[in-house]
Amino acid sequence: MKKSFMIFFLSILLLGGAVFYNDISANAANKKTVIVIDPGHGGVGEKNVGAVYNGFTEKDLTIVVAAAMKNELEKYDNVEVYLTRTSDVFMSLEDRAKFAKEKKADFVYSIHFNASVEHNFYGSEVWCSAFGNYYKKGYEFGLIEQEELRSLDLYQKGVKTKIGKTGQDYYGIIRQCVSRGITCDIIEHCYLDHAYDVQSVKSQDFLSKLGVCDATAVAKFFKLKSKDGKTDFSNFKYSSVMIPSTAVGQDLTEPDVCSIKVLAYDKDSRNALVELTAKDSQSPIIYFSYSYDGGNNFCTLGMWDRTKETQSFNIKIPNGRTTADIICRAYNNYELFSDSNEVSIETR
Ligand SMILES: [Zn+2]
Repeated sequence: MKKSFMIFFLSILLLGGAVFYNDISANAANKKTVIVIDPGHGGVGEKNVGAVYNGFTEKDLTIVVAAAMKNELEKYDNVEVYLTRTSDVFMSLEDRAKFAKEKKADFVYSIHFNASVEHNFYGSEVWCSAFGNYYKKGYEFGLIEQEELRSLDLYQKGVKTKIGKTGQDYYGIIRQCVSRGITCDIIEHCYLDHAYDVQSVKSQDFLSKLGVCDATAVAKFFKLKSKDGKTDFSNFKYSSVMIPSTAVGQDLTEPDVCSIKVLAYDKDSRNALVELTAKDSQSPIIYFSYSYDGGNNFCTLGMWDRTKETQSFNIKIPNGRTTADIICRAYNNYELFSDSNEVSIETR
């Protein structure tokens, strides 16, 4: 009697457990992924237009990319997509986050283009929250997004965080979303004030290609399947990022090491072969540059191969200079730089 009661009781437990499990998976399968795409900026006045360079205005480009992203993402099953704005209107960052909360967003993607004070940077970067699971998810998505954008030959600066003076996320849209329990990344697609990126922005269909990249990254992250059955990311594997126990802040210091040697100088070609060693223990070195006039002028930033700490390259010294005073500069992921030692050579 006792034994049969036990078996009966156990089978209830097991059956109950199975039913419970099935319920969860059925819910998971039915639950639609809700994506809010936020085209950055909007409205009139200098504060609302975003970056304006080379005939491009950021607030207009973000609308085009966001529309292309939505269009592409809606080719997938089980996803609802909303835009925070569809016309050239002002919308506060708080209102954008409130809108995302109303829609029960799983993730907010804020679409942007970049510019720098000295107009020297180029490439893409993704900003995510510095905190907990928002960091984990934001960073994981950022890595997928970078691979998509790399396919358009955009240089990838990295996935980054920034904490403001109040100890919260520096960027308002991330902060406003996180305070409402929503993960948010800012996608800075490329720079509108650097020739290297602008040549891409000018190319045909580039903005819609960006939107397709963004949507594909989302589809991979949420393991979506296309409605036509042709694309299936349900088994897509991506790098898992640990939930950090403390906030992951930005690197606040310049690269630790930046030093050069001049390995050779060829009088006929006027090429100096320079070896640069650059390291930063907190963030990767991403750009380098050189000067042959003692640091008065530096060349356009070069891309740094992150798999190596030491790289060598030729610097062509212009005709007419009898000496060259060579200095190199290395930039980390947070755009902080260190200058190398100076090496002077006779060039006659
Ligand atoms: Zn912007």
